[in-house]
Amino acid sequence: MKRTLYLKFLIAYLLFGIFGFIMVATFVSNMTFEHCRRAKAENLYSEATLIANTYAADLYNSETSLETVYRQLAALSKYMNGADVWIVNPSGRLVIDSAHMIDQNEEIIVDGFDPTITAGSYYTIGNFWGYFPEDVLSVFAPITANYKVQAYVIIHMPVSTIKKEADEYLNISYLMLLVMFLLSLIILIFFTELVYIPLRRITIATEQYASGNMDYEFSVESEDEMGYLAASLSYMAGEIARQEEDQKKFVANVSHDFRSPLTSIRGYLEAMLDGTIPPEMYEKYLKIVLNETERLTKLTNGLLTLNNLNARGMLLERTDFDINQVIRNTAASFEMTCRDKTIAIELVLTDDKMLVNADMTKIQQVLYNLLDNAIKFSHHDSVIKIETTEKRSKVFVSVKDSGIGIPKEDQKMVWERFYKSDASRGKDKKGTGLGLSIVKEIIKAHGENINCISTVGVGTEFIFSIPKAKSMDQGEEI
Ligand code: ATP
Ligand code: MG
Repeated sequence: MKRTLYLKFLIAYLLFGIFGFIMVATFVSNMTFEHCRRAKAENLYSEATLIANTYAADLYNSETSLETVYRQLAALSKYMNGADVWIVNPSGRLVIDSAHMIDQNEEIIVDGFDPTITAGSYYTIGNFWGYFPEDVLSVFAPITANYKVQAYVIIHMPVSTIKKEADEYLNISYLMLLVMFLLSLIILIFFTELVYIPLRRITIATEQYASGNMDYEFSVESEDEMGYLAASLSYMAGEIARQEEDQKKFVANVSHDFRSPLTSIRGYLEAMLDGTIPPEMYEKYLKIVLNETERLTKLTNGLLTLNNLNARGMLLERTDFDINQVIRNTAASFEMTCRDKTIAIELVLTDDKMLVNADMTKIQQVLYNLLDNAIKFSHHDSVIKIETTEKRSKVFVSVKDSGIGIPKEDQKMVWERFYKSDASRGKDKKGTGLGLSIVKEIIKAHGENINCISTVGVGTEFIFSIPKAKSMDQGEEI
């Protein structure tokens, strides 16, 4: 699986080379030959015309001898790469051949000679009516004297010579192709370095993570998409590992918190059954058992609330309501408990009505939990102060007690699930340690903040913010 990408790229690279070679061997080869043939024909034609108008014309004007012209043409032939220069009568009789001096008694006639073979062009390719053993390029130029075509200058050049020349050009093309092919190796190297190797590392890491080894570390040191992908993957693995850790801790806490009340319930019930606890003491121990079951119910409810908050995320039923009224109601519901401990609740509220925009039931739960804690951790005969203040578009609610306080090192942890500071353990056996984590989740869901200020032995203050209702803001502007 891992190799296929590299293999595919290698195949693509080889295909590029093979197709390049085929292209050069066919198209480019044909084009080069065509080009050379045309260029040669043009070249030879201008030579032939020149000869027809000068030396050959002189011959027909009887200004020079046959032998002189032969010598001149023989010299020219050498200059033209050994091309054969002929002068032929319209009837096909060879008058001069630059290759050898023709004996005037000997009559060489090209059988079937027909100058119209060029068909509108000025050259033809073939074996010249069987005269040559191989194909030649023959260029025709008429010699005119006295307004008549007296003869033709014909220059022959073997096609093989032209091919040889074309092949030399073609070799340059092959060389260029090879250079290109080797240069494109750079792309292969880049691909290996920038894509293949990082991708392999990422794949190995993914396999490690998939098999559960979340601690596997790897690095891709590039600042491109590959680097980003690797960083995201390793971040994701870290997050999963952290969640797994949290999950384990959570389950451990839950089991621990469920186990202790269950153990004590079981202990008391067994003691009653086997007679260790006499019937007259039942009431006392049944009360303890009842307390423990209450604690279990509270724990279950707390867990359910937290679970719902997490699962449903930010689903809030926001409405505009009067926070002062909610505070008054919540305080009133604690009247009995306060009376038992002779604790007074002092309300310092803003104007009569302070409309806020939030989920009323959830804010009520926040206030309930904070007030419950304040009362739980306050001494007898003390005062708890609930205060609302408005600042710009927000209302700040503070719940302040003068109770036992929270040690500095514990202040950060009180928001964690199941956390109970050592000081509170003795005082509150029923506490689950979930109250403040529920509070935090609710406030977070509103996009707001909650803070804790506390000094051991002096007291604790929790302050949270909620947004004012829009209508309140507008009222202020007017
Ligand atoms: P539950 O809320 O389920 O009854 P709990 O009150 O113990 O349990 P939290 O409300 O989450 O749990 O509080 C966590 C811990 O923070 C408490 O156990 C206590 O140690 C500390 N704490 C919270 N509020 C106060 C306070 N007002 N004064 C002193 N300590 C506090
Ligand atoms: Mg609490």
